[in-house]
Amino acid sequence: MTIPLPTREAGLRQLALFLPHAGADYQARRNTDFGPDQRDNVSQLSGYLRHRLIDEVEVLRAVTAAHGPRCETFVREVLWRAYFKGYLEQRQQIWARYRRERDAWLERLTSDAALASRYNEAINGRTKIEAFDAFAQEIASRGYLHNHARMWLASIWVFTLGLPWELGADWTFRQFLDGDAASNTLSWRWVAGLHTRGKAYLATRSNIEMHTDGRYSASSLAGFAAIPEEPELGPAQRLDGAEGWPKQPYGLLLGEDDLGVEAFVSKSEPVCVAVVDAPIARSELPMGEVARGFAQGALDDAAQRAETLFGLRVSRIGLTGEALVAWAQAAGVRAIAMPYVPQGPSRDRIEVLRKDLQRAGIALAMQRRRYDERLWPLATKGYFAFRQGVGEIDRVIEGG
Ligand SMILES: Cc1cc2nc3c(=O)[nH]c(=O)nc-3n(C[C@H](O)[C@H](O)[C@H](O)COP(=O)(O)OP(=O)(O)OC[C@H]3O[C@@H](n4cnc5c(N)ncnc54)[C@H](O)[C@@H]3O)c2cc1C
Repeated sequence: MTIPLPTREAGLRQLALFLPHAGADYQARRNTDFGPDQRDNVSQLSGYLRHRLIDEVEVLRAVTAAHGPRCETFVREVLWRAYFKGYLEQRQQIWARYRRERDAWLERLTSDAALASRYNEAINGRTKIEAFDAFAQEIASRGYLHNHARMWLASIWVFTLGLPWELGADWTFRQFLDGDAASNTLSWRWVAGLHTRGKAYLATRSNIEMHTDGRYSASSLAGFAAIPEEPELGPAQRLDGAEGWPKQPYGLLLGEDDLGVEAFVSKSEPVCVAVVDAPIARSELPMGEVARGFAQGALDDAAQRAETLFGLRVSRIGLTGEALVAWAQAAGVRAIAMPYVPQGPSRDRIEVLRKDLQRAGIALAMQRRRYDERLWPLATKGYFAFRQGVGEIDRVIEGG
């Protein structure tokens, strides 16, 4: 596995390469991590989907056209992304609490030498747990891990190494080229036994040996999942309404959470277009080089595509109040439209800069895609109920 190229063209190429494997083959072999250079059993589309260089609907359309119902296992996995997104949008307190606890733990790393030493051993792959150390090195060099390896890694982090899940989630969020606030945070919580309360995922030596095709072992793993304690979460909240395109002349702003320019071209008639100039920091600690390079490349690729598709010169601007106000004023618009920005670092920034826009009399409207609009509200309980609620995948695809 080489590091994927962060362009829509490369994403479509990867989809075409994976297509023959998306049916029975995926169902039979997806759970095994054969190693970074043998990844044709999974799609490796996560980086593209995370930035929406390609989107879920086009992936679902391609795989169902090729395999019909035989690709249900793959469809189910793709839908996990919408499930986690919708779940976090309706429980924003999870993201807020995660950020608070993460920052407290990051602060503690600066004063607690014993914790810092255990943390550094883990992230640098020096725990002497063979599989874990190999995965930590793979994260650093590739910015990617197979799903099963992510589960083992998180489980060992929490239950064997006894490290706080928030520090682990922060580490992988900054390193994964598909690092996504919802999928990453909620997957860590799922492993730790906080998503489905009391149901944790415990990695075992035999499972690791079997599903790494004998490449790795892992001795002295915890035999018991001591689930971290946390206060009850408040009730779920309703999704805020999608806002629709502004009636007045507006500028279109694209950020790293949805770079699917193609999906917005026919629906949007902006006066000017801008793409955010650089990836938004995922925490106080730096992003991994691979993740940063991928996100930067995705933004650059979107800017190029937008220029061609809209036939306009595309500006590159920082995600700050000052930059947005200056851009809108220079173009003579009093409204900015954006593809919906879900919970995560970009949204946190936007909530801060809204005040600057308001002061300057500039409105900001976010557009949710129909796929998200339809699926996210269904993510209120467990995944099984969500999948049932989604129903026939053909209907979802038709809805676009
Ligand atoms: C601790 C942990 C952290 C994770 N962090 C992230 C993350 O930051 N970003 C991320 O996209 N995924 C994350 N995942 C989910 C999953 O591991 C990856 O999406 C998947 O491994 C990506 O490889 P792929 O594209 O080859 O997946 P495939 O198996 O080919 O699946 C196709 C697509 O479905 C989606 N998908 C598959 N499984 C999941 C899942 N369990 N949850 C959400 N979406 C899924 C992804 O978009 C993926 O590209 C995490 C899982 C764990 C256990």
